[in-house]
Amino acid sequence: ERMISGELQGEEQQIELSLRPETLGQYIGQEKTKENLRIFIEAARMRNEPLDHVLLYGPPGLGKTTLASIIANEMEGQFRSTSGPAIERAGDLAAILSSLEAGDILFIDEIHRLPRSVEEILYPAMEDFCLDIIVGSGPSARSVRLDLPPFTLVGATTRAGLLSAPLRDRFGVHSRLDYYEPRALCDIVERTADIFHVGIARDAAVEVARRSRGTPRIANRLLKRVRDIAQVKGEDMITEETTKTALKMLQVDGEGLDHIDHKLLMAIMDSFKGGPVGLDTIAATIGEESQTIEDVYEPFLLQMGFIQRTPRGRMVTPKAYTHFNREVPEA
Ligand code: ATP
Repeated sequence: ERMISGELQGEEQQIELSLRPETLGQYIGQEKTKENLRIFIEAARMRNEPLDHVLLYGPPGLGKTTLASIIANEMEGQFRSTSGPAIERAGDLAAILSSLEAGDILFIDEIHRLPRSVEEILYPAMEDFCLDIIVGSGPSARSVRLDLPPFTLVGATTRAGLLSAPLRDRFGVHSRLDYYEPRALCDIVERTADIFHVGIARDAAVEVARRSRGTPRIANRLLKRVRDIAQVKGEDMITEETTKTALKMLQVDGEGLDHIDHKLLMAIMDSFKGGPVGLDTIAATIGEESQTIEDVYEPFLLQMGFIQRTPRGRMVTPKAYTHFNREVPEA
């Protein structure tokens, strides 16, 4: 598994639960999103109504699940969690909806993966808090409408573009989570170190943050590995030097790139003179799926300005050449 993947890995879930902030005040960064949510939550509480349905979107590991559970805490509702792929049939969703209590926060992760037939159950549930179910079959089948308690749906997706328009439109609040600023990420690293009961020098925390691709999940994962190495070395405080050594061992470079990023950038530089080159061609050259490149590898490389998207394909930037200590070719 990739050290710097934003996806949840192996046994991480348990650790992550212990690291999860519980209130908006403890949630670091994402100021715009927090500010909006704070206002909406306060207004809903003043009216004694459930919060509008919330759609959170952005890359994996940025804290969508965390934010959903914080919304439940702040609204003093129960947090109920499921995911798009876990709900296969309309009946599965109907069962979940009919078990909700007033004020519950229903979190659906990867909501873009809900089958269309299931999605249609959500429309009246979100709009009118009711559930239309068919009882009986054949000519005697009829539709029965059940009332649901008022609840808030929080949907999360890494691919807002894949959400159908009717579903997207039923969310009153849309919030995009962005990669974290180095400063915020550094605060997250220090907070996690605190929870792990380990000291970390400020410059060491800065180093972990810098290599974490703007993603708290990666920052926490790297910190955990760095801590292990510091412990083996018998250090009671994580130093910058140990951090650098550890991250080198983990093959994460100074900008948070790993061997797959290197392979991708090198392929464009060496095989295609820096580009532009089509996504499928790159994929075939490095033996990865185009979709994976587009969803997983490319967003961060684009964000960091190592590659550019042009109408004729992907190009590496001068920054990429400099990163590998190469001369920038003349235009
Ligand atoms: P996925 O969609 O892949 O499940 P996610 O976006 O829901 O990812 P979370 O599981 O919420 O991500 O967050 C990953 C980890 O990072 C958690 O341990 C969480 O506590 C921590 N984390 C996320 N955001 C913050 C934050 N703003 N402040 C402190 N810790 C955070």
